[in-house]
Amino acid sequence: MSAFQGYGLPLGSKARPISGDHFMLVGDAAHLIDPLTGEGIGNAFYSGFIAAEHAAECLKERDFSASFMKAYDQRVQRVLGSECN
Ligand SMILES: Cc1cc2nc3c(=O)[nH]c(=O)nc-3n(C[C@H](O)[C@H](O)[C@H](O)COP(=O)(O)OP(=O)(O)OC[C@H]3O[C@@H](n4cnc5c(N)ncnc54)[C@H](O)[C@@H]3O)c2cc1C
Repeated sequence: MSAFQGYGLPLGSKARPISGDHFMLVGDAAHLIDPLTGEGIGNAFYSGFIAAEHAAECLKERDFSASFMKAYDQRVQRVLGSECN
């Protein structure tokens, strides 16, 4: 078991990668929280929806590489980035 770790709200942060080889991060794990209100439920749902659609694409194309996952990061940034950075 590892030690507990904290993670700051994304206040003025630059965009960070939220996917890689065989994974996508959603919700709080992807720091998709509004830094001013602390609200993250809607963004967690929406990023989960986008991740599910992208997972379907991964299965269709049989591609789970970090480079193929970049499209997920880009869509999340385009849709949710303005309220999370
Ligand atoms: C006090 C408080 C009040 C808040 N109020 C609001 C609000 O009014 N409105 C709003 O929009 N947002 C609010 N938020 C933020 C909101 O709760 C989060 O943004 C949202 O729950 C994120 O959803 P999530 O699915 O990413 O993460 P979570 O809801 O944290 O879900 C992650 C789940 O993964 C489980 N888990 C963790 N590690 C493992 C593991 N190793 N194996 C299996 N499971 C694991 C956890 O038990 C948890 O059930 C509040 C947060 C806090 C702390």
